[in-house]
Amino acid sequence: MSKIARRQFIQLSAVAAAGCFVRPGQEARAQDLPKLEESDPTAKSLKYVHDASTVDPSTRANPAEVQNCANCALVQGADGDEWRPCQIFPGKLVAADGWCSVWAPKA
Ligand code: SF4
Repeated sequence: MSKIARRQFIQLSAVAAAGCFVRPGQEARAQDLPKLEESDPTAKSLKYVHDASTVDPSTRANPAEVQNCANCALVQGADGDEWRPCQIFPGKLVAADGWCSVWAPKA
């Protein structure tokens, strides 16, 4: 396992453990959730930005060209919403045009 992959695995494990505390039904109140700030410590550690176009594609671990929260496997909520819940940031909304280093393609 490469150094970057190991770091991402550790970050994902910590975030996934935190996500276990999310209660079912929370998604139904998504519009009431606060927006994730780029300055949030977890957001910073996962390189989250509101605008995916500001990220240098060469710095991404996954080679897929078009990456944003709207086409990530971990986003929740309704297609077309500007701000949506994300499994990685429980209790917060991420920008549909955003991106973080955990981005994964939808199956
Ligand atoms: Fe966006 Fe996916 Fe990262 Fe969540 S995991 S912030 S949806 S890129």
